[in-house]
Amino acid sequence: TPSLQDWRDRAAKVLPAAGFGNFDPSVVIARGEGARVWDADGNEYVDYLIGSGPMMLGHGHPEVLAAVQEQVAQGFTFFANNAHGIELAEEIAVAMACAGQVRFVSTGSEADMYAMRLARAHTGREKILKFEGGYHGMSGEALMSLAPSKRVNFPQAVPDSAGIPEAVREAMLIAPFNDPDFVRGLLDEHGDEIAGVIVEPLQRLIPPEPGFLAMLREETAKRGIVLIFDEVVTGFRLAYGGGQEKYGVTPDLCTLGKVIGGGFPLAAIAGREEIMAHFDKAKAGDGFTFQIGTLSGNPVASVAGLKTMEVLKRPGAYETLRASGQRVMDAISRELGAAAIAHRVVGDPVLFDVVFTGRDVKNYRDTTDGNAEQAKTFNAVLRKHGILKPDSKFYISLALTEADLERTEAAIAAAAKALV
Ligand code: PMP
Repeated sequence: TPSLQDWRDRAAKVLPAAGFGNFDPSVVIARGEGARVWDADGNEYVDYLIGSGPMMLGHGHPEVLAAVQEQVAQGFTFFANNAHGIELAEEIAVAMACAGQVRFVSTGSEADMYAMRLARAHTGREKILKFEGGYHGMSGEALMSLAPSKRVNFPQAVPDSAGIPEAVREAMLIAPFNDPDFVRGLLDEHGDEIAGVIVEPLQRLIPPEPGFLAMLREETAKRGIVLIFDEVVTGFRLAYGGGQEKYGVTPDLCTLGKVIGGGFPLAAIAGREEIMAHFDKAKAGDGFTFQIGTLSGNPVASVAGLKTMEVLKRPGAYETLRASGQRVMDAISRELGAAAIAHRVVGDPVLFDVVFTGRDVKNYRDTTDGNAEQAKTFNAVLRKHGILKPDSKFYISLALTEADLERTEAAIAAAAKALV
């Protein structure tokens, strides 16, 4: 059987940039179970990558597995309404405060693309305001964020704006996160050209300051601007009802992905019925066309998502997630504190990372003076000690056991020592 190195060599030939660029050297995962994954050489890791977020119950959860197997036997995809897709839409409409109706797509990127178009259809305006360092997917306007300067430790959020047409760039306005005065200034200047404001309620890792999201809600409502929460990461993670539940602010639209497909490709736009009505070309009469997408609303993905949500809804699930994450956060603060290394643990217990900086992190710019070498060493030592995480975060899963957390604490202690 091929070794890890064989797979690395084969990947380097056939996959541009050797495939997923998150790891140096690359990891090739052979198998996952619970909160652990194994590579082709049998090296075992505690998994804080969890498929970049979707596998909130860990890998191969028996109830999800059974539901998926049952659906697979009944058909993979129909390009027609199916019972499970309708059930999932109903569940999302109950969970998300903003959701009257739900449109399924296959990726978070598509959901954000459609949310922005929907805002344009609804307002007849073109511009979208987004936040520096925010990530809304693979399309040009969603990527557009900031010149790729010296961003540290959030590498995927530093897209290059080269190749994005001028007209698209001009349609995007960019504000620093957590800066209400800057936002108000932009809205005063451009308010009547702005169709929508798109924001991650917790931006990458950075929590909103008290009142920031409420300010966005108030200022957009005043000006007839559509407020979009990108909850692709935060939905069903920060709380069952996402960032809108956790922070008590209801947007007009939200986008969802990751968890709602239980690891299969499924994403959604959800929101007020009056805005979602623009998906109905016959009724809307606004000249916009929104296509469905061949694999959208896939029944296998729908049952995986539904079962995942059923487990997350059980008593104690979010308490367990938060307690596990808090233990890891505490271990980082404790060990780096004892080693007298300047750092901030940024985020929420379900999603966080360490930034090697001496200053408080309120927005993207505050992360750019973080020590990149320290971050690299920290991640590399964790990996050597059997912890797999993306460069930019720890994703917490419900599958983490006492043994997983103990291994993580030991690895963090070793990583702190390596930094002295
Ligand atoms: N929005 C946010 C906040 C994301 O983090 C991501 C991907 N990580 C996306 C949108 C895009 O989702 P996808 O990768 O499914 O296209």
